[in-house]
Amino acid sequence: MTHTTVAAYASPAPKAPLAKTTIPRRALGEHDILIEIKFAGICHSDIHQVNADWGVGTYPMVPGHEIAGVVAEVGSGVSKYALGDRVGVGCFVDSCRECENCKAGDEQYCTGAGGMYGTYNSRGRDGEPTYGGYSTHIVVDENYALRIPEGIELDVAAPLLCAGITLYSPLAHWNAGPGTKLAIIGLGGLGHMGVKIAHALGAEVTVLSQTLSKREDGLRLGADHYYATSDPATFEELAGRFDLILNTVSANLDLNAYLSLLRTDGTLVQIGGPEHPMEVAPFALIPGRKSLSGSMIGGIRETQEMLDFCAQHGIGSEIELIEATQINEAYERVQKSDVRYRFVIDASTI
Ligand code: NAP
Ligand code: ZN
Ligand code: ZN
Repeated sequence: MTHTTVAAYASPAPKAPLAKTTIPRRALGEHDILIEIKFAGICHSDIHQVNADWGVGTYPMVPGHEIAGVVAEVGSGVSKYALGDRVGVGCFVDSCRECENCKAGDEQYCTGAGGMYGTYNSRGRDGEPTYGGYSTHIVVDENYALRIPEGIELDVAAPLLCAGITLYSPLAHWNAGPGTKLAIIGLGGLGHMGVKIAHALGAEVTVLSQTLSKREDGLRLGADHYYATSDPATFEELAGRFDLILNTVSANLDLNAYLSLLRTDGTLVQIGGPEHPMEVAPFALIPGRKSLSGSMIGGIRETQEMLDFCAQHGIGSEIELIEATQINEAYERVQKSDVRYRFVIDASTI
């Protein structure tokens, strides 16, 4: 069987608006499943990549790594999924499967040549460009798909595949739970998932947002405290307060000011991926034995664990469902921090 051609929204060149097009999807291999995409979330990483913030990518670029849909066809050797199963795909569609990290289930940190195979703006095992979720269908190896549990609707499940796991993984790694004083910087797509998940884990959650405009939402989502970072008094009041700070902001921040909010042995985890470097003063870390770390999405096993956890706790994303023709407008709004709290594309409009 040869490849199939499907509809998609693509950016033809760096910073160019997305427009409707067609793309190839590979013929189903033995362990592949064909997914009919129902919903695709818009992550700020999609915007960074379309805009070439992280270096010039591969165009045409079909973004989308928060994919939720239904299995429409299975390869002859598929054992994990059957027709009609509710499935998701996140940020990667394959990895070397042999390195230490892949074997440990940390495929996102694959050290094989080229690292993990990104869902888009990357190349697949066959060497062909990969195209993401702003599309009607995707073909993926069954080992890199996730099962979306009954009890979470597919539209609110889609953002869990990146935003959800990206916050769940550091919360799990740094053992956030009862007694943890946690701050999340930025109440956007990632931040709001972090608030929900951290609250369900039992942590004491503080949101650090630019203003108090989303305070009611933050408290409703599970935050215990909410502060405006535009108010200098916030930094005086919260000095030395937190065990763990997760920075989800897509722009540069004064990291030294936020490091001053950590208590002794506290950790600030950089999650947001702004284009430019940020300065860290040695003495923002030295007194208090503080750590500055990073974290990237999560592995397949942990992503499944996160989905099951979210289903068990009734957690989905807060979404604004849009038609494909509204993608460019949604990009504008995300860049203005005008998102409550994730745009999700209805793939039936592609
Ligand atoms: P988002 O929905 O745009 O949320 C980012 C939030 O950051 C905004 O809602 C805003 O929150 C705050 N913010 C934006 N500009 C700011 C500025 N100039 N100063 C201070 N705060 C600002 O984006 P997202 O989809 O959550 O993604 C956030 C970042 O994480 C992006 O850089 C993305 O590429 C990155 N990311 C990383 C990973 C990973 O694995 N590490 C995975 C996914 C995404 P307030 O309005 O509350 O201030
Ligand atoms: Zn993402
Ligand atoms: Zn590997």
